[in-house]
Amino acid sequence: MTSIIKSLLILVGFFILLFLGLRLIGGFAPGWIVKCKKCGKVRKADEAGIIRVGKLSGISYTIDWCSKCRKIRWHSVEVGSVEYIDK
Ligand SMILES: [Zn+2]
Repeated sequence: MTSIIKSLLILVGFFILLFLGLRLIGGFAPGWIVKCKKCGKVRKADEAGIIRVGKLSGISYTIDWCSKCRKIRWHSVEVGSVEYIDK
């Protein structure tokens, strides 16, 4: 019984360290952006609450609030930088 608790604690500790590590390297989705399909507004994926680590897959889609359209819109999740964000 105590060994189960011990292994659970190790697991929880592992996830806490993973979480802190991800925060240190720059958010949950470093190198990823979300782009509004309608107006093209770009922002960081980690600000949109998207968790994506590494550059494993191509483009995927998510439904998110667009601050420019002021509506819920489809956004593409892409690898990219936020240097060309229009403010
Ligand atoms: Zn938009």
